[in-house]
Amino acid sequence: MPDYIDLHIHTFFSDGRQSPENVVDDALKLGLKVIALTDHDSVGGFRPAFDYAADKGLEVITGIELSAAWGEDDIHILGYLFRDDDSHLLEMLDKFRQIRHERCKKMVTKLNQLGMKTDFEQVLKKAEGATIGRPHLAEVMLENKFVASYNDAFQKYLYVGGPVYVPKAKLTPSEAIELLHQAGGVAVLAHPALTDRDAMIAELVSSGMDGIEIFHPTQKKSARKKYRQIGEQFGLFFSGGSDSHHRKGRYGDTGDQKVPYEYYLGMMQAWEKRNK
Ligand code: AMP
Ligand code: ZN
Ligand code: FE
Ligand code: FE
Repeated sequence: MPDYIDLHIHTFFSDGRQSPENVVDDALKLGLKVIALTDHDSVGGFRPAFDYAADKGLEVITGIELSAAWGEDDIHILGYLFRDDDSHLLEMLDKFRQIRHERCKKMVTKLNQLGMKTDFEQVLKKAEGATIGRPHLAEVMLENKFVASYNDAFQKYLYVGGPVYVPKAKLTPSEAIELLHQAGGVAVLAHPALTDRDAMIAELVSSGMDGIEIFHPTQKKSARKKYRQIGEQFGLFFSGGSDSHHRKGRYGDTGDQKVPYEYYLGMMQAWEKRNK
């Protein structure tokens, strides 16, 4: 049987629903060889997963998902193989989480202005110390019966530009890439089909982007083929994962995407080149 990996997984350190240990258990059951937890603006899940997986035959590498601003758009940049104790990176992540906290307060104000009475404390409680985001607010809106479902909250109110949406202050892509590089990591363009900004890939590459996500639940066979071609053209390594949040209606679960182990070797090669 070929070996598989999953390099895009969320836990309850951001907007996923599983603990790092639960993710490791799932990965072990599936016989995966390598996983990365890529929580939004948090590396809190790495140590628990790494320690729990030690001696169980599963390699856990560092991962993160950062948001960067491209004009009005939001692009996601995944980071891997960085030092999880890099003080500059950790300081910046703290800052991003603080910005998200203030942003969430503003979204709650908007909700209240629309007559949907909501207490910010309720949203904080929902996040339980995780990187706070729109998913937590969506859950509270559902709990308070303002919407019929979690997805309804996004479709009616929380979508980008929607009545309750507040943008996050963000890095530029080149700042995000530099932040990962200075911590000894490599940078990957997340879900390019979802981001849908192919024309900017050349510029991202000149800013130091190292890899591109080929396997993602939003990328079917034809999209994977297209982004393999683009990746080859620019000398990017290939990556991929399930983008699991363990949340009904939000992508799949750990191991759902058949990402070949060879992709990890390509990532390691790029990492060695950058860090030699
Ligand atoms: P935030 O980082 O706070 O802007 O929230 C982004 C997160 O919200 C994403 O990582 C998804 O987990 C979730 N999300 C974004 N758009 C949608 C949508 N249309 N439906 C459901 N979840 C969404
Ligand atoms: Zn997410
Ligand atoms: Fe993303
Ligand atoms: Fe993600």
